Amino acid sequence: MTCPMIETRIKSAIRDVPDFPLKGVLFKDLTPVLKDTKLCQEITEEFAKRLRGTGLDAIAGIESRGFLFGLMLAARLGLPFLLIRKKGKLPYKPITINYQLEYGSSQLEMQGGDVHPGWKVLIHDDVLATGGTASAAAKLVLSQEGQIAGFLFLMELKFLTGREKIQELSQNIISLASY
Ligand code: AMP
Repeated sequence: MTCPMIETRIKSAIRDVPDFPLKGVLFKDLTPVLKDTKLCQEITEEFAKRLRGTGLDAIAGIESRGFLFGLMLAARLGLPFLLIRKKGKLPYKPITINYQLEYGSSQLEMQGGDVHPGWKVLIHDDVLATGGTASAAAKLVLSQEGQIAGFLFLMELKFLTGREKIQELSQNIISLASY
C-alpha cells in the first residue's frame, strides 16, 4: 500500500510537461521534487520503510534519474550503489544488453564485476512506464549471477502496464505514486 500522504505530496510536486521528448508523451518532471529537501528525505525514508524485511546486498540505479534517489537510499541503508548506464559511458569492462523500445531498440550497460554472484540487487528508476528499461536492467544483473530482490520506483504509469512485464523477474514491485 502506498502511503496516501506521501503520494499526494509527490504528485503536487511533480511537473507534467506535455509533448516531451516526443509529441503525445506527458513527461513527469521530478526536478521540482529535488528542490524540496524535506520531501526528498521523506521519500528516502518511505522507500527505506517499504523495503524493511527485503534482504538486499546492493541497489542498481538506471541512468540518469535513477541515480538521484538510488544513491540517497543506498547511503541511507549502508549498501553499495551500482550504475546502469546508456551504452558507451562506463569505462571499465562494460557488459551490454540490447532491448526493444516501442519504436526501435536501445542498449544499457553495467561494469563487469560490479555484481557479486548471488547478490540480491534492487533495481531503481524514477518512472515505471512500459517496463522495458527496468526489465533490461534486471537482465543485466541476472547475467552477472545476481538475484533480483525487487523493483523500486518513485512513479508508476499504470496504464502502460509495465508491472505485468517485470513481475516475472520479481514480484516485489514498489512505487510511491501511481497515475
Ligand atoms: P519504460 O522502459 O517504458 O518503462 O520507460 C521507463 C524509462 O523512461 C525511465 O527511465 C523513465 O525515466 C523514462 N520515462 C518513460 N516515460 C516517462 C514519462 N512519462 N515521464 C518521465 N520519464 C519517463
